[in-house]
Amino acid sequence: MRITYACPACHATTSIDGIESLDSLECAACHAVLALPPDAFAGRGDDTGPPRLQRCLTCPSLELFVRKNFPQRLGVAIVVAGLAASCVAWANREMMITFGILFGTALLDVVLFLFMPNCLSCYRCGARYSGEGVANQHGDPAAGSHQFEAFDLETHEKHRQLVARTKQLHSDPTHP
Ligand SMILES: [Zn+2]
Ligand SMILES: [Zn+2]
Repeated sequence: MRITYACPACHATTSIDGIESLDSLECAACHAVLALPPDAFAGRGDDTGPPRLQRCLTCPSLELFVRKNFPQRLGVAIVVAGLAASCVAWANREMMITFGILFGTALLDVVLFLFMPNCLSCYRCGARYSGEGVANQHGDPAAGSHQFEAFDLETHEKHRQLVARTKQLHSDPTHP
């Protein structure tokens, strides 16, 4: 399983593989070490399959949501390339080719999205978890962290307010 997170100490983005066998995470930029909580994984060391992630490892949040592990930059790149190509076709008055390219790139985005594996993301700190044991990719609850669900706006709002309140507390110590 792989984690991608923003280091709480230096805010650099770090990716670490094989986190299910680690006891701590080390930032590649500033080498700050984060100890993993003892309840981080379920099924560690038994033979029920890959260990299942139970909570966020880099912040106190227990709530994660399932999302597609779709690299946003790739999606944008496909759309931009499609638009550029269709503009060229449009300039050459190739109507059919223009719409063919636009339709094709949209379809490519949809197909890519469907085949992308799931990953888990933390509501509070935005850490992302991908690989084996993160989410039930094939509808089999035993294969992943089935207690996590798709993005929920209410939960997101709860965490957003929590983070805002924590920030306020830190910036204004006279106001409890
Ligand atoms: Zn760091
Ligand atoms: Zn988190």
